[in-house]
Amino acid sequence: MAGGGGKIDYIFKVVLIGDSAVGKSQILSRFARNEFTIDSKATIGVEFQTRTVVIQHKSVKAQIWDTAGQERYRAVTSAYYRGALGAMLVYDITKRQSFDHVARWLEELRGHADKNLVVMLVGNKTDLEDQRAVSMEDAKEFAQNEGLFFLETSALDATNVESAFLTTLTEIFNIMN
Ligand code: GDP
Ligand code: MG
Repeated sequence: MAGGGGKIDYIFKVVLIGDSAVGKSQILSRFARNEFTIDSKATIGVEFQTRTVVIQHKSVKAQIWDTAGQERYRAVTSAYYRGALGAMLVYDITKRQSFDHVARWLEELRGHADKNLVVMLVGNKTDLEDQRAVSMEDAKEFAQNEGLFFLETSALDATNVESAFLTTLTEIFNIMN
């Protein structure tokens, strides 16, 4: 384990947002425990998981918050966003609607969070390429216009999940240092 149970130099809170069923909880369990659960239940109760990584010789504890099935519009409370330094805004590349809702998630996020917040737009479920409903170009263009980082992931086969978190955490680190 990073830091060997020793000192933690930083704790970064990162929140997961996006429509229900886009794969937020699976992305988190892939990153925090390297697990994917085939029959995952909707998340119950606000919770977070942690994983400590090393960035430029410093121990950074990522505290990743997952929504409690409160993904309805404006149902996520301000406590959820409070103190967040990063956000991963997730949509499902096979569900056009989940991408169409990204703009309002972003608006809600910006209404609550810090100005320096690092936001990573994440198109999940790339393993379902044959069911793709959102092109990479559309998402890239949106991300560029809004000043977001962007990656496509698969929590199922683990593609880019590590990169999405590490890019977000490294960017937060760079802003602070
Ligand atoms: P959440 O509501 O955003 O937390 O979504 P979940 O993590 O609960 O996932 C919703 C559903 O999508 C579950 O049936 C997951 O097994 C499935 N799922 C999540 N990530 C992926 C992925 O990368 N690929 C595929 N094929 N299914 C996924
Ligand atoms: Mg969930």
